[in-house]
Amino acid sequence: MATMKAQKPDLERIREMSLYEAFRSSNDVMFYCDQDSNIIEVNPAFLRLYGYRREEVIGRNPRFLRSDHSTAELYKRMWEGMLDPVRGFWRGQIINKAKDGREIPMLLSITSIRDVDGRVVGFMAIGMDMTESLSLKTRVAQSEALANIGEMAAVVAHEIRNPLGSVVIAANQLASDTLSAGEKGMVMKLLRSESKRLSDVLAGFLAYARPPSLRLARVDLNALVTEVLAIAQSNRELIRHTRVSVSLNPGLRPCPMDSEQIRQVVWNIVVNALQAMDGYGKLTVTTGREPGWVFFRVRDTGPGISEAVLPEILKPFFTTKRQGTGLGLATADRIVKAHGGVIGVESRPADGAAFTVRLPWAEG
Ligand code: ADP
Repeated sequence: MATMKAQKPDLERIREMSLYEAFRSSNDVMFYCDQDSNIIEVNPAFLRLYGYRREEVIGRNPRFLRSDHSTAELYKRMWEGMLDPVRGFWRGQIINKAKDGREIPMLLSITSIRDVDGRVVGFMAIGMDMTESLSLKTRVAQSEALANIGEMAAVVAHEIRNPLGSVVIAANQLASDTLSAGEKGMVMKLLRSESKRLSDVLAGFLAYARPPSLRLARVDLNALVTEVLAIAQSNRELIRHTRVSVSLNPGLRPCPMDSEQIRQVVWNIVVNALQAMDGYGKLTVTTGREPGWVFFRVRDTGPGISEAVLPEILKPFFTTKRQGTGLGLATADRIVKAHGGVIGVESRPADGAAFTVRLPWAEG
C-alpha cells in the first residue's frame, strides 16, 4: 500500500510534466488565457512566430495580434462559438500580425475551458502557421494559370492565322496592281472585314485574360440593359427579323457594380441569344429582384442548348460556332463571379434558352 500511495502522485506529476513538455515543445502556437482573456502562458512557438519576448505578452489581451483583415463580424462569430455551452470552441482562418508587422495567415482553434460547474475559467488556443501551405496553393494556382495561358496561346494562334492569311493575300493582290476596279473594291472589303475580325478576336481574348479589377459604383441596371439593347437593335445584321420584348422592374434602385463590365456581360449574352435565333424569333429581356439579389434575364426562342453541351458553355474556348472564340460566356462568368453573382442557364431543347444573371444586392 505504501508503495502504491507513493506512485500515484509521481504518475500525476509525470503526466503533468509531459503535458507541459508537449505544450512547450509543440511546433504549433499555443497559448492559454484566463476568463478575462488575459494571456497566462504562451509556448516558445508563439514567441518565435510572432517575434515577442515572453514578458511582452503575459497579461495582455491577445487582440494585439489582430491585423487590419480582422473584422468585428469574425470576432463576434469566434466568441459565439467559444461561449456556446454545447459547441465550446471556434476554429477558422484568420490573419494575425507579428511584432515586425508581418501578416501571418493562421488556422486557429480556441476552446473554452470550464470548471465542474460549467463556468468558463479560461481559453486554450492552438494556431497553425498557414504561410507555407497558402504559398503552395498560390504556386499551384499559378501553374494552372500558366497551363491556361498555353491553351489560350494555341487558340489565339489558330484564331488569328486564317484572317491574317487573308489579309496578307489581299495586300499582295493590291500591291501587284493587276486587279480591275471591281476586284479592288472586293479585296478592300475583304481586308476590312478580316481586319475587323482580327481586332474582335484580340478584344475577346483581352476581355477574358484581363482579371476584372472592379470599379464599383451605384448603377441603374434598367438603364444599362436599355442602352445595350439599343445598340443591339441598331445592328441590322444581328437583329434582322427578331422581335424584342423588354420588361423592366421599375422598383429597382441603383446597386453597386462595375458598369463597363456588366455592360459586357449583358452584351455577350444578348448577342449569343440573337445569334442562336439567326435573325428570327423573339428576344425577351427582363429585370427584377429577389431577396438579396438583383437580376436580369435574357430569353430566346432559338434551338436551345442540349444537355450534353450545357455543362460546357461557361468554360473558356468552348464554342459550337464556326467563327466563335468560346470566350463570351467564360468572360461573362468571370465578371459575374467577381461581383459575387451567378449566371443561371435554363434550356429546353427546341424551345430556346434563358440566361439569368444575379448580382448581390443589399437593400437598405
Ligand atoms: P461563342 O459565342 O464564341 O461560341 P460563348 O462563350 O459566348 O462563345 O458561347 C459558348 C457556346 O454556348 C456557344 O458556342 C453556343 O454553343 C452556346 N450558347 C451560348 N448562348 C446560347 C444560346 N442563347 N442558345 C444556344 N446556345 C448558346
